Amino acid sequence: MSMMQQPMLISSILEHAIVSHPNAEIVTRTVEGPIHRYTYAEAAKRSKQLANALGDKLGVKQGDRIATLAWNTSRHYELYFGVSGMGAITHTINPRLFPEQIAYIVGHAEDRYLFVDLTFLPLIEALKDKLPSLEGVVVLTDREHMPESDLELLCYEELIADCSETYEWPELDENAGAALCYTSGTTGNPKGVMYTHRSTVLHAMAACQNDALGIDVDSAILPVVPMFHVNAWGTPYAATMMGAKMIFPGAGMDGASIYELVESEKATQLLGVPTIWLGLLNYLDEVGKKLDTVHTVVVGGAAAPLSMVKAFQEKHDAFLLHAWGMTEMSPIGTVNSLTQKMREMPIEERYQHQLKQGRAVFGVEMKIIDDDGKALPHDGEAYGRLLVRGPWIVDEYYKNEDRSSFVDGWFDTGDVATIDSDNTMQIVDRAKDVIKSGGEWISSIELENQAVGHPDLSECCVIGVAHPKWDERPLLLAVRKEGTDPSPDSIREFLEDKVAKWWLPDAVVFVDELPHTATGKLLKIGLRKDYANYLTENGLA
Ligand code: ADP
Repeated sequence: MSMMQQPMLISSILEHAIVSHPNAEIVTRTVEGPIHRYTYAEAAKRSKQLANALGDKLGVKQGDRIATLAWNTSRHYELYFGVSGMGAITHTINPRLFPEQIAYIVGHAEDRYLFVDLTFLPLIEALKDKLPSLEGVVVLTDREHMPESDLELLCYEELIADCSETYEWPELDENAGAALCYTSGTTGNPKGVMYTHRSTVLHAMAACQNDALGIDVDSAILPVVPMFHVNAWGTPYAATMMGAKMIFPGAGMDGASIYELVESEKATQLLGVPTIWLGLLNYLDEVGKKLDTVHTVVVGGAAAPLSMVKAFQEKHDAFLLHAWGMTEMSPIGTVNSLTQKMREMPIEERYQHQLKQGRAVFGVEMKIIDDDGKALPHDGEAYGRLLVRGPWIVDEYYKNEDRSSFVDGWFDTGDVATIDSDNTMQIVDRAKDVIKSGGEWISSIELENQAVGHPDLSECCVIGVAHPKWDERPLLLAVRKEGTDPSPDSIREFLEDKVAKWWLPDAVVFVDELPHTATGKLLKIGLRKDYANYLTENGLA
């Protein structure tokens, strides 16, 4: 071997921060209320105190699973590094999962301890007899804020207070597990993805690249995407690597709270799912405010609509950086970063291009296949199931025999996509959501994102419903903005020049709200059932 074999470890990211940018800041809107700020050097000391406490006081060993149920905060950050650094597994749990699903995954992961924010304690109290693997619950607060509870609780600040600030991180195998995240499992039980130290470090290095999220020492990043879902897209690791200022919004996900933090902390890059940005944009419109410091808004998790691309650019001078990925991919797969070619495009054409999910980052290979498994051309026209492979993509689900998504060394994403000649990918739809009308496909995502551009609509959902002649036809479920009363016909008219005629929804139904998954995506399963025969029942087919 001619080169050194230095394992890629999460602890090495933190050690780099201690020597290279000890004074860079981590700012948190705390769950208790006030703004908390400290430096990477101080955060590292506390992560080491935590690692000591885990080993010495709680008897945690390498490989043990330690669960968290927490917002984006500095204490959660300390857990990311303290737990994984000492060789245990940081198992982040999504509090928006159904309680039975939370009980299921704690049991499946055999979590030994749970670190929980005050907000989520009631969730755990309600499940207390259903979590047999848990030996203790630690509340992420200080003594003063410790709540009354039927459970025996430990206090985080007390747990770490008297522990040493020095800790020798173990030299682990870089392929050892470091962090565990379960998919939200819209059908069946959630499935776990175990990220390794190596996959996490490589993913963070890729995420920082200019052509990816562009995180560097000058960045002040505000991840609204939660640390309980795919590690906030890897940003805590990436920012620590680069010495970027890290801004944690805590429980404040509404437009007003986000705006306040952006302004006071001079955030340069924001990251989150489209629903969060709809909330922020609406708020900014209402109060007539502008984002002054933000140059990039990273949007992923669901497709960004055209109206959002335009609003960020034209009202806030911020570039909407569209990205795609999934829990199984750590999550980053593609990013649509601004290229010279895009800069030279007429602006409307550039906006259209931004709707694509982007080019694969180095480390991710993609292909599209037809129903027979044959590879399809990268011509921007042919669409098929999207398969991926790479060093931060899942190879097997955690303690799960199901191999149905793994095909000859590739992972089947369950998405349907096109790929251009320059490897720019565009999601057509989730395979299960595509509408099959008369043998042709209609993209529910495309229809939703066109419809939501209607000035009177705040959210749209398109599903395929039974039709005697065409097999399936699109039905649009729409939520009206407060104080507006558009007619179904006006919605169809609005869509007429935006999509092919045969794509126009056969019916528009107004609803008060739409159901979402734990990760904020439209939950279509129930709707498909409820509205399955809508067209025939209403004499529309
Ligand atoms: P889950 O909600 O099941 O945990 P993830 O959060 O891992 O899922 O979401 C992965 C899926 O989200 C992708 O397979 C894709 O369908 C969808 N998705 C993610 N980013 C985008 C995007 N930019 N545009 C469209 N769909 C996206």
